[in-house]
Parts: sequence; structure tokens; C-alpha cells
Amino acid sequence: MDNDIQEVLFDQTSIHDAAVRLGKQITQDYAGERPVVLSVLKGAYLWTADLLREVDLYVDLEFINVSSYHGGVKSTDEITLVTDIGSDIKGRHVLILEDIVDTGQSLLFMKELLAKRGAKSISVATLLDKKEGRKVDITADYVGFDVRNEFVVGYGLDYKEMYRNLPYVGILKKEVYSD
Ligand code: 5GP
Ligand code: MG
Repeated sequence: MDNDIQEVLFDQTSIHDAAVRLGKQITQDYAGERPVVLSVLKGAYLWTADLLREVDLYVDLEFINVSSYHGGVKSTDEITLVTDIGSDIKGRHVLILEDIVDTGQSLLFMKELLAKRGAKSISVATLLDKKEGRKVDITADYVGFDVRNEFVVGYGLDYKEMYRNLPYVGILKKEVYSD
């Protein structure tokens, strides 16, 4: 897999440091609360595992699967709910864990869904924030790293379901997806 990567942007050590930093912040910000941590499948699976181990709180872990990429390298405007949350979040503080916020459309879709269902508060902790890609006015509350407007893979992020198990985040070589 390493041969398909043009440049490593965030290695295991820097991702771990980001998890520790945000974990501490989240632990402080939610002191005394029991939030629902909502992990966005599949991309946020490693970020969820690593970040949550740095959070010293009682939490309920839930998963949601929304799809916007449909296997390509560009976000589509059509967001679909693939797998819904397993429990009622009415009256709960919800912390969404995302791999990356790009156009912001999936996040907006989820925030609206959670608001409609009566969440008490909704925050977002994303590993990566691709601010240049934004099409809707939305910001993440906790950001691991800002990332430039390139298609990245690894550490949960895929191209056609591959590379999710790369331990780092890197830019995929253009020739890998242009053929
Ligand atoms: P948005 O709705 O913000 O445009 O897209 C959010 C989702 O698109 C992310 O959760 C992620 O699954 C996917 N995505 C956005 N940018 C990238 C990228 O650079 N690489 C990969 N692999 N997925 C991305
Ligand atoms: Mg995602």
C-alpha cells in the first residue's frame, strides 16, 4: 500500500498526539455528563478507537453510517442514511466523531437529524478538517488537523474500500485513481 502514497501527511505519532490533546479537552468540556458518542462509519473507526481511549468519561457508544462519496474521490450532494443509530438520543448530549469534514454536507445532514430527534447538544470531533472544500456553513468543535484540498486515504479513510488499515494519513497518488 505504501507504494500508492504520494506523501504522508499525518503519521501515527502525530495522530496519537492529536487524540491525547482532544481527549483531554473533551474530558474537561463534558465533565459530569454522559454523552452519546456517535461514530460515523466506516471512516471514523480508528479515530473512534484511539480518541475514545483518551476520554475519561462514561459514554454511550453508537454508530451511524451515512454515505456521500459512493466510492469515488469527490463528495456528492446526495447524502444517504445507510445505517441508523441504535438508540434514542432525545435529551442527550451527542458528540459526533468524523474522519474528515469536507463539503460539510454529511455533517449538516446528521446534525439536522439529531436536532429533529431532540438531542440536547450536538458537537463534532473530526480528525481532519478540509476547510477549502466547504459548501455549507458548518464548523467542527474539535479538530485534529487542518488538511489541504487533496484526496487523502489511510487511518480509516478509503478509496474504493481500500487503505482504511493504513496506520497514517497520506495523499493517494493520482495515477492510482485516474486509470
Ligand atoms: P462531506 O459531506 O463533508 O463532503 O464529506 C464527508 C465524508 O466524505 C467524510 O466522512 C469522508 O467519508 C468522505 N471524504 C471527504 N474527503 C475525503 C478524502 O479526502 N478522502 C476520503 N477517503 N474520503 C473523504
Ligand atoms: Mg465519513
